[in-house]
Amino acid sequence: MFDALVLNKDKDQKATGKVEKLDIADLPEGDVLVNIDYSTLNYKDSLALTSSSPIVKNFPMIPGIDFSGVVEETSNNSFKIGDKVVLNGYGVGEKHWGGMAQKARVNGNWLVKIPEEFSQKQAMAIGTAGYTAMLCILTLEKNGVTPDKGEVLVTGASGGVGSIAISLLTKLGYEVCASSGRTEQYNQYLKSLGAKRIIDRSELSERGRPLGKEIWAAGIDSVGSFTLANICASIKYGGTVAACGLAQGYDLPATVMPFILRGVTLAGVDSVYCPLKDRIEAWKRLATDLDLDKLEDMISLISLNEVMDAANKMLSGKSYGRIIIDVKSTN
Ligand code: NDP
Repeated sequence: MFDALVLNKDKDQKATGKVEKLDIADLPEGDVLVNIDYSTLNYKDSLALTSSSPIVKNFPMIPGIDFSGVVEETSNNSFKIGDKVVLNGYGVGEKHWGGMAQKARVNGNWLVKIPEEFSQKQAMAIGTAGYTAMLCILTLEKNGVTPDKGEVLVTGASGGVGSIAISLLTKLGYEVCASSGRTEQYNQYLKSLGAKRIIDRSELSERGRPLGKEIWAAGIDSVGSFTLANICASIKYGGTVAACGLAQGYDLPATVMPFILRGVTLAGVDSVYCPLKDRIEAWKRLATDLDLDKLEDMISLISLNEVMDAANKMLSGKSYGRIIIDVKSTN
């Protein structure tokens, strides 16, 4: 038997979560059984847990779009018992039982071996947010963004994607401008991650002009909506914006002007069905480009019992950094 957070629907079609004891035989089919050590609370998990968005496709569901752990049983030749593995996405926690449990049985092709530089806890301190931040940076690099081109803007700066993006960009030699709605509360935190300049997100969150002053060489945006439109309007000639999120909204009230007059590239980043070779590249680069001391400053640890409260806190904008779920904790 093992502990899992199980989501069910109540009579009003709202998801309700409760920690329950399950049998290994209850797990769905898959060729690898993982003994999970940690999961994390990502923005998407919070949307799923609070029924704020129809993320979960079938009930009962074990939520959790990511986890780290150790292979316990395998019939997949790419893995052996004892391998340390991480899983990000592939519909886990949405369509297939996910990481907020002490065990998971999954398709081995969804797993990546954790680079030896990281413990299972560090792999989840990075989690889907950090791996997505790395995918965004790889996207900027592929589009020719280099540190000498100028300042890079990171929005949603105090959140998971934002915090890790700032830390990575800084280590890679970029000058970072952080946009946050909590500039006073997290001024020191954002500076400690490496942000050279911090702006209030209200500067970007309202409808703006089709083209503004050319300010940033590139951007990493986890916010969407007017913010993303305004970023595109203020990117320097030939620059790139990596768009991965929708914390402000999923709309994009923009014009084509930045694209047709300044050659700006708007590049989408998806972590869920990202090809395996790009995942492996992202995890490899995280192993060399992430400052582990800074990672330590970003984390708070919670138990399965504390997940539902933490999800509400995240969506009301009261959390910061990375929230790791210790699935073995009895708190
Ligand atoms: P977090 O909740 O950790 O961070 C989001 C941050 O966005 C907040 O900390 C806050 O930062 C800012 N924010 C919150 N509400 C608003 C608002 N109304 N307007 C503007 N900014 C706001 O979430 P994550 O970092 O885990 O995820 C960020 C986004 O990226 C989410 O939309 C998530 O779904 C998406 N995502 C997408 C992935 C993909 O595959 N494409 C993978 C991972 C995440 P501050 O207070 O500093 O402004």
